[in-house]
Amino acid sequence: MFSKWFEKKDTASSAADNLPATQSISRADTADSEQRPAKKSRPRRKKRVAKSQWSLAQFQVPEKEGQSRFHDLELPLSIMHAIADLGFEYCSPIQQAVLPYTLDGYDAIGKAQTGTGKTAAFLLTALNDLLNNPIEDERFMAEPRVVVIAPTRELVMQIAKDAQDLSKYTDLNVEMLIGGVDYAGQLKRIQSRIVDIVVATPGRLIDFLTRNDLKLDQVEILVIDEADRMLDMGFIPQVRRIVRACPAKQNRQTLLFSATFTDDVLRLTEQWTIDPVKIEMEPDRVAADTVNQKVYMIAAEDKFTVLKNILSSDEVSSAIVFANRRDQTRWLYERLSKTPVTCGMLSGEVAQQKRTSTLKRFKEGKIKVLVATDVAGRGIHVNGISHVINYNLPEDPEDYVHRIGRTGRAGETGTSISLACEDDAFMLLDIEAALGQKLDCEQPPPSYTE
Ligand code: AMP
Repeated sequence: MFSKWFEKKDTASSAADNLPATQSISRADTADSEQRPAKKSRPRRKKRVAKSQWSLAQFQVPEKEGQSRFHDLELPLSIMHAIADLGFEYCSPIQQAVLPYTLDGYDAIGKAQTGTGKTAAFLLTALNDLLNNPIEDERFMAEPRVVVIAPTRELVMQIAKDAQDLSKYTDLNVEMLIGGVDYAGQLKRIQSRIVDIVVATPGRLIDFLTRNDLKLDQVEILVIDEADRMLDMGFIPQVRRIVRACPAKQNRQTLLFSATFTDDVLRLTEQWTIDPVKIEMEPDRVAADTVNQKVYMIAAEDKFTVLKNILSSDEVSSAIVFANRRDQTRWLYERLSKTPVTCGMLSGEVAQQKRTSTLKRFKEGKIKVLVATDVAGRGIHVNGISHVINYNLPEDPEDYVHRIGRTGRAGETGTSISLACEDDAFMLLDIEAALGQKLDCEQPPPSYTE
């Protein structure tokens, strides 16, 4: 990718001409004075990749006005094959906006929520770069070329899975480092083969760096996902250490995504990126178009009865119930477990293995309802969730958008039902402001209150 740094300036103006007005781009010339250290020797192990006769002729997508196809991006055939398997046809708006720049090596900061396709946007950038710039020299173990950090284990697992799906026809290796599961096992994996992409939570990645079990001095692309959430969760000191362990910003590509661009986030992007392309997506459109949002005004003491009745109705095929705090989540889970509804719980107090198995059972349809906190719920990427229920309204309006975005995914429509009572109805004003839309409050059907 380093040769690309010199080509960037030429492509900037033409690509910028095509950006919608809400998106801005700026990037000055970058001096790439530092030289990378020479690669050290150690034989590279090749991943076995099934030989295929696949060609683009098997992936026909007609041109559509205003929409980019992945075909228009000159991605390697192995990536196109994986994209075809995933059933992606056209770029999502954020992909369409950001990929022309990031594929050219630009830094980027994206205001985008989950559900916008941001994960594929940064992964395609990384995979394209790794494949187009293979390292022919021998390499050391535990020296990834791409590192992705994300705040929660669920999110890391989802990103790693997406990376594996998108790289399945390449010989690139993806590893995931998360806390709460066996360090020794992760270490063994990282030492057993060359790793190209590491996806990690900040804490566990720091553990690896501190023990000298991983080096980031060969990183070419650094991805920081959900930066605002990392700030909220107090991870920024760790993220700073990780950024410092990577090559200087002149010698890497940095992609940063955040659901919000607060002053704090923007300050960090200034420190960590060089004249990034700045893409801002309108998150609310995603939700409003595909989610039928209802707000039931009820007394606090009726909430559980209404919840129980909603969940037992035939309309609900699978649902996530959000509560604001862990103790509320546990309380709800315990009470729902005494009803015929099958349910599981996802929150920070549940051990990682249990969370993974609960999520798996939910995906397989063995559990109808998941009760979750906002943080745990962020990593839930399951298509076909019919309902999101807000047992309490979230204190942060952005969380409302995140929550309801768990349904209405992948072109389907979904329903969100918020149970507002005298304690939390006042938060609706802020939520409406964040959504840019008024929410109609109604009484629940009488059958729900009995
Ligand atoms: P994300 O915002 O990264 O959480 O992605 C949301 C969902 O959209 C995931 O299930 C992706 O598999 C899916 N997705 C990403 N890009 C596309 C695309 N271009 N077309 C269809 N689905 C996509």
